[in-house]
Amino acid sequence: MMFSKLAVCMTNRCSAACDMCCFGCSPKKKTHLSTEQIKSSIRQAAETGAFKSVGFTGGEPFLYYDQLLECSAYGKELGLRITINTNGFWAKNEKLAREKLLALREAGVEYLSFSADSYHQAYVPVDVLRAALRLTYECGMQSSLSIMETVDSQDLITYTEALRPEIYLTALTPHPMLPIGKAMESFSEDKYIRFFETKEAKCTFMGLLQLNFDGNYYMCCSQFCREIPPTNLGKASEVEIKDTERMITSNDYLYVMLRHGFIWYIDLAKKKGFEIPDYLCSPCHCCYFVFRNKKLMSAIEEEVREEAGRLRVQHLLGN
Ligand code: SF4
Ligand code: SF4
Repeated sequence: MMFSKLAVCMTNRCSAACDMCCFGCSPKKKTHLSTEQIKSSIRQAAETGAFKSVGFTGGEPFLYYDQLLECSAYGKELGLRITINTNGFWAKNEKLAREKLLALREAGVEYLSFSADSYHQAYVPVDVLRAALRLTYECGMQSSLSIMETVDSQDLITYTEALRPEIYLTALTPHPMLPIGKAMESFSEDKYIRFFETKEAKCTFMGLLQLNFDGNYYMCCSQFCREIPPTNLGKASEVEIKDTERMITSNDYLYVMLRHGFIWYIDLAKKKGFEIPDYLCSPCHCCYFVFRNKKLMSAIEEEVREEAGRLRVQHLLGN
């Protein structure tokens, strides 16, 4: 099977309301998945034998701590590795935070992912994030830290410095800010770092199936996925995880994209008179640019069907 990790995006509720949040999460949002649905998806994932881990994200999963603990323990019981994405707000009270982390580790959690930048730190003071990194380490779990930047932000330098010495306890990854969700309202077009050559774009699919708080499965965990129609695999209450791979490979648009990368689409789009920028922010930005363009999708429908058919025959013949 092509999947190895289930990402459970538990809620759009968050303790923060960052100006760049891809899902526009905030304390006012209330949508969250039921424990029953989360456990059902974890069980189905484990039953395939292909899934090795479950990651909980949001919004802020710690706002539903009891559910997070219960579902983590359930995943561990089924032999899966458990990870969590969080903004670290809970480290304000260090004694309570330590108790929560130790219980999560006991429930199978091995890894926490954090973010640092001026948007997150408007809600989570840098000292609190520093405590979260230290406590995660002291409680025997690994962590990573993402820092997102625009063309003129200095957050990579600022927060690498501000988080010393705890920065040495975590794996640091810088990212360009992506033009999706709330970021589109907060930043003008010229603020995004477009360094990725679109003709090189290939799907960065990492074997990750997402159960989103909206109740649907998506074929990836990209920030753009909810705006890219072909990546929506349908309602989790109606779809079985064992069928999701077939759903992807039987979708002509996805099949051609997975086999050729985006260059095939870009060449065809240009031939049909559509403008595609030479540079975008990431391969997923390219995916969003191509697949959410309804006019383009409809103009190339016939060619996509023929190419998907040709590729499937080629595959059957072993080429
Ligand atoms: S902490 Fe994360 S989920 Fe919460 S508002 Fe900020 S970016 Fe969104
Ligand atoms: S390229 Fe598209 S399908 Fe692939 S990971 Fe990115 S958004 Fe998802």
